[in-house]
Amino acid sequence: MSDILDLGVKDIRDGVAKGDFTAREVADAFNTAVAAASELNAFIVTTPDHATAAADAVDARRKKGEDLGKMGGVPIGMKDLFATKGVQTTAASHILEGFTPQYESTVSQNLWDAGAGMLGKLNLDQFAMGSSNETSYFGHVSSPWKKDGTNAAMSPGGSSGGSSSAVSARIAPAATGTDTGGSIRQPAAFTGICGIKPTYGRCSRWGVVAFASSLDQAGPMARSVEDCAIMLEAMAGFDPKDSTSLEMDVPAWEAGLDADLKGKKIGIPKEYRMDGTDEEILKSWEQGKEWLRDAGAEIVDISLPHTKYALPAYYIVAPAEASSNLARYDGVRYGLRDLPDGAGLQDMYAATRAAGFGDEVKRRILIGTYVLSAGFYDAYYTQAQKIRTLISQDFSTAFGECDAILAPTTPTASFPLGENQDDPLAMYLNDVFAVPASLAGLPAMSVPAMLNADGLPLGLQIVGKPFDEQGVLNAGLAIQQRAGFDAKPEKWW
Ligand code: GLN
Repeated sequence: MSDILDLGVKDIRDGVAKGDFTAREVADAFNTAVAAASELNAFIVTTPDHATAAADAVDARRKKGEDLGKMGGVPIGMKDLFATKGVQTTAASHILEGFTPQYESTVSQNLWDAGAGMLGKLNLDQFAMGSSNETSYFGHVSSPWKKDGTNAAMSPGGSSGGSSSAVSARIAPAATGTDTGGSIRQPAAFTGICGIKPTYGRCSRWGVVAFASSLDQAGPMARSVEDCAIMLEAMAGFDPKDSTSLEMDVPAWEAGLDADLKGKKIGIPKEYRMDGTDEEILKSWEQGKEWLRDAGAEIVDISLPHTKYALPAYYIVAPAEASSNLARYDGVRYGLRDLPDGAGLQDMYAATRAAGFGDEVKRRILIGTYVLSAGFYDAYYTQAQKIRTLISQDFSTAFGECDAILAPTTPTASFPLGENQDDPLAMYLNDVFAVPASLAGLPAMSVPAMLNADGLPLGLQIVGKPFDEQGVLNAGLAIQQRAGFDAKPEKWW
């Protein structure tokens, strides 16, 4: 059965439908692989029974000749930021440890309705704040990749690092991720897999633990562009329970896949040539241009003049929203309660929050509270909001001249765990190419391009016009077909 583990979403769905194997065989193979991979620490809890029950239901439907669904028979990993009914949901924080929701998030429900099952809840950076998966209360996630000739544990990226690690290690064919400022794309790039953040509003935020509500978007992480298209179709859709949900039909992205880019213009933003970007990343970007040209696209130079302000603006807007969203964790309603002897209500709030939140989460809450305070609101928050508008305008102007944008996903390849941990600014720089699209709410995808000289994956990013996930997926497919990326991490776990 070991070859089942190499199959992706499409292969599994189609294989189950044809009767090449049963959904139960698939679920059993992945449940076994998950149980044997605890060294990666990709899962916070495993839910083998969920996966087998969903598989049995699909197999029963097949016997009756019924429709198996868009994801029929595909077991997936669920980032532990999505509320799952009856299954602990922690956001990788001590403050939510033991919290078992009474309800299911819209996105996870959509996936179960499409025939998917759940292998478990995936580890992440605490409250999705981080770029390396080192801020989880439940321990670091390791990437399955190692730098050639070394044995150091490498970062799977963050915050969706449990997702990226599991999918690249082939203990899950696909996983959900969320992206507030790069958390789908950066971990995908670090581990040689694909991930797409759709247009803001495509996937419902209902039941997703909130980090920065004006930026948070769910999306799929998988090993091919096709698999991302299939899974995004299953996840997306209008939801009246999310006031920012897009009231638009979900396009048939899978059926619309087309790698012929004749007549398309791909923009290369000159401001993304930044100091500190790895030479090999710049080379992969050049190679990406060649691949897209080969697919029929015209490559044009564009300018996104306010790019350098995106990262500072993001690290004001996101913490500001986080400080407000995280006010709800007070020891009264969810998870942890720290009630020192003889303590009053205020003391309980303080003790619970001091014990429950990790250092990075506290840092964000402090920054957010500061930039929203009466004396500094205009100097920081209002300015950052103005920059956000300018960044969106940059993209609108650029999309007058091109159909999609090609850029690196990250300035460097994955780094050893521990390397950037004491330097939050160095860590924040990981997101420099990812946050502009987040601030503008645009669809953006990372696709694996190649291995660097150290044998580590590098990703290329495609950013599209609002609602044009199809254009992003198609450009991604053109790269995938030419990159022929089929490298696998060597198994050590
Ligand atoms: N790494 C970024 C941060 O720490 C983005 C996180 C995310 O997209 N959830 O904020």
